[in-house]
Amino acid sequence: MKKCIIKKAIVVRVLVLLLSLINSCSLNNQKIYKETRLALYTVVTVTVYSDSKQKAGTAIDNAFKELDRLGKLLNFYAEDSEASLINKYAGIAPVKVSKDTLDVIDKALYISKSTDGAFDITIGPIVKLWDFDKHVVPDEKTIKENLKLVDYRNVVIDKANSTVFLKKKGMQIDLGGIEKGYAADRAVEILKKNGITAGIIAVGGEVKPFGTKPDGDVWRVGIKNPDRKTNEDDVFAIVRLKDKAISTSGGYEKFFVKEGKWYHHILNPVTGYPAYECQSVSIIENDAPDGFPTGIFVLGPQKGMEVLKRLGMDAVIVDKNGKIFVTEGIRDKVELIEKNLKPY
Ligand code: ADP
Ligand code: MG
Repeated sequence: MKKCIIKKAIVVRVLVLLLSLINSCSLNNQKIYKETRLALYTVVTVTVYSDSKQKAGTAIDNAFKELDRLGKLLNFYAEDSEASLINKYAGIAPVKVSKDTLDVIDKALYISKSTDGAFDITIGPIVKLWDFDKHVVPDEKTIKENLKLVDYRNVVIDKANSTVFLKKKGMQIDLGGIEKGYAADRAVEILKKNGITAGIIAVGGEVKPFGTKPDGDVWRVGIKNPDRKTNEDDVFAIVRLKDKAISTSGGYEKFFVKEGKWYHHILNPVTGYPAYECQSVSIIENDAPDGFPTGIFVLGPQKGMEVLKRLGMDAVIVDKNGKIFVTEGIRDKVELIEKNLKPY
């Protein structure tokens, strides 16, 4: 699917990871092993420290197997995924799903409630109307009609029976805004089970370091300058992380410009059009906070900061004017390299 998106992602996202490796060296016989492959329709880089090439290779392979397994279950575009099966039976019957699918949807609904519906996986019918490769802006009437199908409150989860039911015919869930973070968490678990004690995994915009680097240094992850015209490796901030993941959503990731107007892939579930209050939102949490950055992006910086405060979450937000907001809890961990970002 969508070759050009994937090609762009290779350039855009992997460079973020390199920053965390700048100060790394081989200590205590621990060497760095790193591999980049495509999984979950995005670029994934797994980096581990290990004293054994073979152990590192096996662990990395198993982590990718886990990502592929989850991709098959969760993907919106794969016809035989559990997500697609749920969509197929919308308005007809509950669908029995695996624990992974149930957990992801359960978390997605929690994020919806926490963000007042700004993050909403039932945005599927609207996502399908937009085509970021062919630069298609859907017509307003079609958007309005399809918006009737968007409401996370019409997703019914039955945990005892492990089923998911979409109440209205035509409803479609798209887990694209949350699956990468969940997958990153699971892949780290696999690496640990395979004897890896330190490493970092990047699944698209989800970056999850774990353990301590052999040199004892904390992990340093760069946040990309959201300006669409800057170099791909231009970062405006570096975040120092210990036992935390960082998840970024940016309007620069998938977009097109038509008749002077910029359209991107983070959509407002109320209007069906892209959200324009933020340029990028990065959230820092113990587990990959995927889903929240998309929701906060839609809410905008003011409401977004209120929600973050209520939830006790840390974030770095760039608003539409290029103003940078950093929550209090993370201020001593964030180094701003560029303070004057452009408005869009
Ligand atoms: P990326 O997929 O580039 O990492 P995000 O994590 O922000 O970016 O997720 C954006 C994706 O999530 C979109 O491509 C679309 O599939 C879906 N999406 C868009 N808007 C919303 C929304 N308001 N709520 C939930 N999912 C969304
Ligand atoms: Mg996301």
